[in-house]
Amino acid sequence: GQCTLVCPTGALIETPHWHEVVHTLDAHRRVSAVQVAPATRVAISEEFGMKPGTVSTGRMINALRELGFDYVFDTNFAADLTIMEEANEFLTRFKNQQQLPLFTSCCPGWVNWVEINRPDLLPHLSTTKSPQQMHGALTKRAAFARTLGSEFAEGKVEPYVVSVMPCTAKKDESARPGVSGDVDHVLTTRELARMIKARGIAFGALSEDAEFDNPLGESTGAAQIFGASGGVMEAVVRTAAHLIGKEDSMPLDWHQLRGVDTVIKEAEIPGVGKVAICNGIAAAQQMLKTENWRDDYVAIEVMACVGGCLGGGGEPKSMDPLILEKRMQAIYGIDKNAPRRRSYENQDIQKLYKTELEHPNSTKAHHLLHTHYAARNSTRLLLMQFLDCVDRRDG
Ligand code: SF4
Repeated sequence: GQCTLVCPTGALIETPHWHEVVHTLDAHRRVSAVQVAPATRVAISEEFGMKPGTVSTGRMINALRELGFDYVFDTNFAADLTIMEEANEFLTRFKNQQQLPLFTSCCPGWVNWVEINRPDLLPHLSTTKSPQQMHGALTKRAAFARTLGSEFAEGKVEPYVVSVMPCTAKKDESARPGVSGDVDHVLTTRELARMIKARGIAFGALSEDAEFDNPLGESTGAAQIFGASGGVMEAVVRTAAHLIGKEDSMPLDWHQLRGVDTVIKEAEIPGVGKVAICNGIAAAQQMLKTENWRDDYVAIEVMACVGGCLGGGGEPKSMDPLILEKRMQAIYGIDKNAPRRRSYENQDIQKLYKTELEHPNSTKAHHLLHTHYAARNSTRLLLMQFLDCVDRRDG
């Protein structure tokens, strides 16, 4: 049947791309790489009749290999890198007392909203690219990726890069000026499930025993919690604590920043100031109406979907009233059991800086890993919706 799904931010309609992905993989003209977001590996289980909260990382990796992807990477690798860049960006702004509070920018639903409704706030957005875009840029253009094989060599045909996201707005993000070309096609969690079903792959029978390809596959618990509201800020705080030499005196777990029910969450970071989480776009609108948000906070995370990406418009639909809570528990469970839980501890990230990027926020890092924003009216989004209607395919 026809598939039209509306993004929770009201920004755009989902255009299915999985048929194009299947055709491109079947033609096999270029080496192919897929990256998977943290919220997907949890929710995809629900599409195959498993209990909400079941983690299917290994089954998903095996299914992606059966679908024909040459390399299966983890978006979480780039989430750790996002944290390195964003934590350093924050501390520089903090030192100079400029453009504070810093707003997170990894949610395109939020970025679109600011560009259209509040362009005066653009200087507050972190210039750090989202993990999806960073991962694509690294896969296609970093010398670091060339250790994977000659297909990744500079000057050859670029690898075909697909991402699997919990999010319909990520499709729009991949076409943004300044980042377009990093990722060729974006699939939602639901589209991946349809591909797996269409190929007759018995997902439930696949082994959980599989690892992401490396480099570009290693990650820490801090990256995994990007999938939940409050997770990006908690990850930033964990690494910022290290950078300001307070790692031993600060907690690793920031429970005040967690949860899918509270609209606005906040925590005091000793020696730095107060940070806030806006759990959903309505929460951000509510905060911006208050008088003192500019003075009260040093950093603010906004995720457009309530609960964060685990409640994204590309995730499986569910009638379970506790679905967000169950997915959230699964995400924090992965973090708790991770051998490394701070982004700077990611060994491959350290290697990437040493061999190529020099240090966070370096000129090279800016070139590959940062972006810009601009005021816009909503004409482009309306045009995309129109094209979507023309182009709509069987989802
Ligand atoms: Fe997409 Fe996550 Fe933002 Fe929702 S919260 S619009 S799923 S990036």
